[in-house]
Amino acid sequence: MTTPRYAVFGHPIAHSLSPRIHAAFGRQTGIALNYTAIDAPLETFAPSLANFTDANGRGANITQPLKQRAVGLCHAVSAFARRAGAVNTLTRVGTVWHGDNTDGPGLIRDLTARHGLDLRERRTLLLGAGGAAHAAAHALLDAGIGELVIVNRSTDRADALADSIRDPARVHTRYWHDLADIGSFDLIVNATSAGVARETLALPFGLIAPRALCYDLSYGAAALGFVAWARAAGAGAALDGLGMLVEQAAESFAIWHGTRPDTDPVHDLLRGELPLHATD
Ligand code: NDP
Repeated sequence: MTTPRYAVFGHPIAHSLSPRIHAAFGRQTGIALNYTAIDAPLETFAPSLANFTDANGRGANITQPLKQRAVGLCHAVSAFARRAGAVNTLTRVGTVWHGDNTDGPGLIRDLTARHGLDLRERRTLLLGAGGAAHAAAHALLDAGIGELVIVNRSTDRADALADSIRDPARVHTRYWHDLADIGSFDLIVNATSAGVARETLALPFGLIAPRALCYDLSYGAAALGFVAWARAAGAGAALDGLGMLVEQAAESFAIWHGTRPDTDPVHDLLRGELPLHATD
């Protein structure tokens, strides 16, 4: 039998930090790892995963645009991944794949364990309704936030996300052009990919309640515009998604190897390369 293989599948994938993060976890825990990045567009994902399976693939992280497709390639899916409608972690169990979603737990762990924040009863604004927004919405509601208002550029996707949550007392959608009139929030989560596309979101300062927490799921240069807006508007904290990235990786690592690595050294190393302020 060949060495067990691990990988991250996505398209594009060259930018992915996952191979470095998992290599660092492996060194820390003394687990020898063969973890690579595999470029797979949607059309070739299934055959690419089949090749990986044949080559003794034991675990895989799944990123865009494949997370929703991955659900259908699993024999069994965790309750959270089922609710989020997306799988980001595949684990070989016998002759089949099991699917998990560690994005939601990774977000909550970064907010609460690393940053020591109490999420309970926070009036929350979620910008975006894509795959990451689905995981974030379910995880934040599970963590006890108060009202959740979802705003997305395409309103039908915001409505679909809200409908799938089935908690009309707590979850509402509004239009982007309503943002000036919907009051202030204790927690604002940017789950759009606008920053990755170097596009700027038009957000009124009035959205930010005193001591509000603003969190962009993207990281590095892609998050700097939102973080700068939050700081200028007087947010209590403005964070990017680097911590979530490292925490979701640690959750996957724990599923595969039965031990959870210490995430702080890896987070701090990457933070040194991706500061939360412009460097030029
Ligand atoms: P999707 O492609 O599934 O969704 C993208 C979302 O962004 C949609 O809601 C889309 O709106 C919205 N959007 C894109 N451009 C704009 C714009 N110019 N103005 C307003 N809205 C816009 O992506 P994901 O949900 O997978 O990822 C979203 C972000 O989260 C990415 O930046 C990704 O890197 C990050 N992420 C971070 C993780 C981490 O561990 N830190 C994990 C997963 C994701 P519409 O529906 O109208 O197209």
